[in-house]
Amino acid sequence: MSENRVENVIIVGSGPAGYTAALYTSRANLDPLVIEGFHWGGQLQNTTDVENYPGYPEGIMGPEMMSEFRAQAERFGTRFISDDATELKLSDGGEQRVVVGDEEHVARAVILAMGAEPKRLGIPGEQELAGRGVSTCGVCDGAFFKGERVAVIGGGDSAMEDSIFISKFASELIVVHRRDEFRASKIMLGRAREHDNISFKTPYVPLEFVAGDDGKIASVRLQHVDTGDEEHLEVGGAFVAIGHTPRSELVTGQVDTDEAGYVRTRSGSTRTNLGGVFAVGDLVDHTYRQAVTAAGTGCMGALDAEWYLRDTRPSPEAHWQRGGEPIEVAPQLS
Ligand code: NAP
Repeated sequence: MSENRVENVIIVGSGPAGYTAALYTSRANLDPLVIEGFHWGGQLQNTTDVENYPGYPEGIMGPEMMSEFRAQAERFGTRFISDDATELKLSDGGEQRVVVGDEEHVARAVILAMGAEPKRLGIPGEQELAGRGVSTCGVCDGAFFKGERVAVIGGGDSAMEDSIFISKFASELIVVHRRDEFRASKIMLGRAREHDNISFKTPYVPLEFVAGDDGKIASVRLQHVDTGDEEHLEVGGAFVAIGHTPRSELVTGQVDTDEAGYVRTRSGSTRTNLGGVFAVGDLVDHTYRQAVTAAGTGCMGALDAEWYLRDTRPSPEAHWQRGGEPIEVAPQLS
């Protein structure tokens, strides 16, 4: 794997989207190379039980699920580099280059699957109590807070959506927001207001998540934005829902992204504005951000790449030599 080989397809990223793209492209005999990252597995590595992925009636731990996704792709010959891509040099229909440290990998197609990460508050207790009552995913973890008093931090649609979902389980849910006005759409805010067990606490900012004697969250230390007064809100759980950041930093300025940094794809496909460059998973998805939806778009990306490679064969001369050295071209589809 080096400059002297042109891959069919390189997949950058390794959550459910990246591994599913690897599974499909390897089963299609495209011999994919996955740059899976040093911390491979994506956001599911930071979750505990996954109860909403079809096919696991008893649920499965997030890291175990990612190991199984990886193993399934490996079974069909996927090759992995467990290191971070450091640079991407994308082209429109030409060679796609992925740099990992001091090695450059070249491919005819690339599937971008770098994902997104939830924004963090950056306050004490947030990291320490992750998985011990502090979560960034209401849909993933809401059901673990049956009968508890729960806080949701944020004032956008994500906060409202999480609140509505979690309020099915929590006895009481308090939305804590730093302004009296909400960024959330009227309809989502209205729906949240309709729930008797949801209330709103504004304008407050969280200063700290505080652990109880059992090591789990016991309260959130809040500060009133105008008066500066502090108080403890006792809770059994807290959700941080202040938005996500797509991991598009390596491709910004090369491929079309929207104002929030998500890679734009053509409607109903994973094609970007660049020929041979496909984007899948949370890197593209503002809305659903579920393992199952990411896996679905990973499959779409693999099929789109397969069709692209089938329909745009390079001339043999174009790939015959580089710098006088013969190069190896990955076997093409028949
Ligand atoms: P968002 O619209 O950017 O809202 C983030 C919220 O978090 C804002 O209220 C913001 O406060 C607050 N916030 C940000 N940083 C904070 C900090 N450090 N401390 C305290 N509060 C902080 O993000 P989002 O809610 O994830 O929505 C993103 C996009 O996805 C939107 O376009 C949304 O409509 C869409 N979405 C749609 C649905 C749906 O329709 N079902 C569901 C989810 C998301 P300020 O308002 O003061 O800035």
